[in-house]
Amino acid sequence: MSGTPLSLYNTLTRTKEAFTPLDPDNVRMYVCGPTVYDFAHIGNARPVIVFDLLFRLLRHVYGADKVTYVRNITDVDDKINARALRDFPDLPLNEAIRRVTEKTESQFLSDVAALGTLEPTVQPRATDNIAEMQALIADLIAREHAYNANGEVLFAVDSMADYGQLSGRNLEDNLAGARIAIDAHKKNPADFVLWKQSAENEPGWDSPWGRGRPGWHIECSAMSERYLGQTFDIHGGGLDLIFPHHENEIAQSRCAHGTEVMAKVWMHNGFLQVEGQKMSKSLGNFVTINDLLQTGAMGGHAWHGEVLRLAMLMTHYREPIDFSVKRLEEAESKLRDWQRAARGAETGEADEPDASVLRELADDLNFHRASVALDLIAKKANRDEGHARQCLAATLQFLGFSLDSLLTSDEGWEEPPHIAAAIADRLAALNAKDFAKADTIRKDLAEQGIALMDYKDEAGARQTKWEIKR
Ligand code: AMP
Ligand code: ZN
Repeated sequence: MSGTPLSLYNTLTRTKEAFTPLDPDNVRMYVCGPTVYDFAHIGNARPVIVFDLLFRLLRHVYGADKVTYVRNITDVDDKINARALRDFPDLPLNEAIRRVTEKTESQFLSDVAALGTLEPTVQPRATDNIAEMQALIADLIAREHAYNANGEVLFAVDSMADYGQLSGRNLEDNLAGARIAIDAHKKNPADFVLWKQSAENEPGWDSPWGRGRPGWHIECSAMSERYLGQTFDIHGGGLDLIFPHHENEIAQSRCAHGTEVMAKVWMHNGFLQVEGQKMSKSLGNFVTINDLLQTGAMGGHAWHGEVLRLAMLMTHYREPIDFSVKRLEEAESKLRDWQRAARGAETGEADEPDASVLRELADDLNFHRASVALDLIAKKANRDEGHARQCLAATLQFLGFSLDSLLTSDEGWEEPPHIAAAIADRLAALNAKDFAKADTIRKDLAEQGIALMDYKDEAGARQTKWEIKR
């Protein structure tokens, strides 16, 4: 474990706090994943990219095998049912739903892999955790935090003294909220669904409360408990999930388990916007990850996944982003500059990412300042400082950027190992004052069309550059 102290902004306390894991041997993070009914848009990619960066940093600080990252797949939802009926009207509903969710899930996974994000440790599907959800609901009923009314099991918000802590809303705010339907069967209009009955033609599972399906919020309470325990370190997602989704996850988990804390740190990424508006399916102002990767949906050509990811990271994760072609062009040129500067670096397993880059990221994921530090290292690498080149390469790899994805085949050409070996032999000969041998090596290479130039590096040590004679 390296000594980088982390600080993270916690939505729950509205302050940046020093991060101390509950168990440094198993640092646990849960991030809400996609509802799989359609292609993910580039706004949906933001939490994937932001929490991937945090995952990489945690793995570096605590050890790659000491971090558990869970990102769920929501594969039961009324939007999925509607899509299945629309796209496969002739199939039995179960089969139609399976087609929609399987196709969308594999599309999502290949999209986010193309962005260069790491796979989470576990990616549970909601439909594989129905029994766990039912157990949680039974606990909530037993502890009198939930009741059965009109064919639904509802969570009683009045049963939790400090409901609303995360969003800072009180129940009066909720009453005023237009989004909460006034339903006569609810004890409080803010009560939310844990389980609802399914009609014949809707997907359903048998339960003590009739054949039905879970509400959305209970999914994440059940899956986080199964894989991370009743209390864990970090819970993340986009800003829009604070209320009601995360508020209700907290209510369910804490009340079912009788605990004070569900997750210690709650982190939320800002919105990706188009002309000042949140990108969303419902507004229709979206562009899919797949379009950006495959077609000219923005700027008239396809973009490399690493460019999309860098474009996203250039703005601090809590700030809104206006996604534009200009931003993508900037990201592309920055990544190409870094890759050019790292060209020819020899990297090995033991290479450490740059300490100043790590320090900036450890400060609530300040990628912008980290990228300024990277620019400085690239400058040094361009002055032919071998150490800087190696450090740049190692840092890019730590961040999940490849070393040559944007370089032309000519730029990406690697130094043939026999040249490096000959240069090393010659330097050894020069240092041993064996000038005859050094000369022979120089002549041999010259015959292959390779010219050598000697220079001194910053530490005053003799170094050699080479180029192809024209
Ligand atoms: P959804 O499939 O809508 O539940 O969204 C999946 C994830 O993407 C959630 O964490 C959302 O908060 C996040 N998200 C959706 N739209 C945006 C956006 N425009 N900008 C940033 N994050 C978003
Ligand atoms: Zn969730």
